[in-house]
Amino acid sequence: MINADLHCHSTVSDGLLAPEAVARRARDGGVTLWALTDHDELSGQSAAREAAEALGMQYVAGVEISVTWAGRTVHIVGLNLDPLCPALVEGLAQTRSGRVARAQDMGRRLAAAGVPGAYEGALKYVSNPDLISRTHFARHLVEVGAAKSVSDVFDRYLAEGKPGFAPHRWATLPDAVGWILAAGGQPVVAHPGRYKYSPLEFSAFFDEFRELGGNAIEVVTGSHSPDQFREYAEVARRYGFRASRGADFHDPSDAYTTLGGLPQLPDDLTPVWQDWV
Ligand code: AMP
Ligand code: MN
Ligand code: MN
Ligand code: MN
Repeated sequence: MINADLHCHSTVSDGLLAPEAVARRARDGGVTLWALTDHDELSGQSAAREAAEALGMQYVAGVEISVTWAGRTVHIVGLNLDPLCPALVEGLAQTRSGRVARAQDMGRRLAAAGVPGAYEGALKYVSNPDLISRTHFARHLVEVGAAKSVSDVFDRYLAEGKPGFAPHRWATLPDAVGWILAAGGQPVVAHPGRYKYSPLEFSAFFDEFRELGGNAIEVVTGSHSPDQFREYAEVARRYGFRASRGADFHDPSDAYTTLGGLPQLPDDLTPVWQDWV
């Protein structure tokens, strides 16, 4: 029985545990096939693979790329890729490069909204200076009492359209899918249930993803409700996409995202890991 968990984060991006510690949690959660998928960053990959293999798990290299499509942010996970592929490495460096200026912009917007010093505060939570993210701001805003939880911070300040949100242009969809394919990897649409597209936009998005060579989506993820497991299983059937499963684990204090603990994929779907195990 394969227990695949193919989406999670470490201190290399906005997770709270080092890659080795995420590996131990995955093993303790019963995971047998694992990928660490930090945002726009591959520097945790060799530590993750070493730890996984020492713990007896099969490992595939991964990443989660930030993309702008039709004016909104979507995330494309790449799995089973070559983390040394120059096109991928250079593309990710380019994708990361705007994060500091964006974070300073967020700091100014939060100050105008009544929360001064948020950029400096967020920096205290950053372990990879190349990868300051909204999650680091959220942890600081909880610490100073501006909101009661990380998700409350997003609802009040950091989600698209809220006062601390700074618009940003990430990678294009053709670039992100192209870098993953160049690295021999499998592109996967991350947590499709989180995007606020109209039905027309969704079908244009999935059509374009497929035309670019994409053929997988996350169905069972910590970001989906059980209703969304069913909804995106149906999308996978309709488009002939393979299906992926992953907790999107960031933080051990978040009881809802347990590595290896989500329901299995529906039996009739083709798992994204079909040819890897
Ligand atoms: P960024 O790449 O800086 O835009 O940050 C995106 C990250 O913020 C995501 O990967 C999640 O970890 C986190 N995030 C986004 N929306 C929410 C939310 N509503 N609640 C909690 N965390 C969120
Ligand atoms: Mn994240
Ligand atoms: Mn994501
Ligand atoms: Mn993620």
